[in-house]
Amino acid sequence: MAEPRTSDSHDDPAAPRAIGAGEHVTVADLTPGRIIERWTDTSTSTVRVPMPCHERQVVTASRHTVNAVAVCRLCSRTYELTLEPDADGGHFAILTVAYVPHLLSRQAKR
Ligand SMILES: [Zn+2]
Repeated sequence: MAEPRTSDSHDDPAAPRAIGAGEHVTVADLTPGRIIERWTDTSTSTVRVPMPCHERQVVTASRHTVNAVAVCRLCSRTYELTLEPDADGGHFAILTVAYVPHLLSRQAKR
């Protein structure tokens, strides 16, 4: 039996609600701790999850993946990814914007 999906945010009225799988995400929504739900594309062996920041970027997990860290290669935004089996045999992705940003190096100015 699937448990009803509950949010931890009910203790904290300031916490924004999760963004549903069918909802559009803007860059302003991608604040640390924000929860974003996404539909996935599940094949016989893999689960493809679109990045909330760049929808044409996907990460590919295995069907056995439960938790992972997903990083967008275009903008380096990082998400904690949880995959939940869905009733239709696919998977439902819950992405949490990571609290710890990744900082990419570049050539120092002289
Ligand atoms: Zn991105």
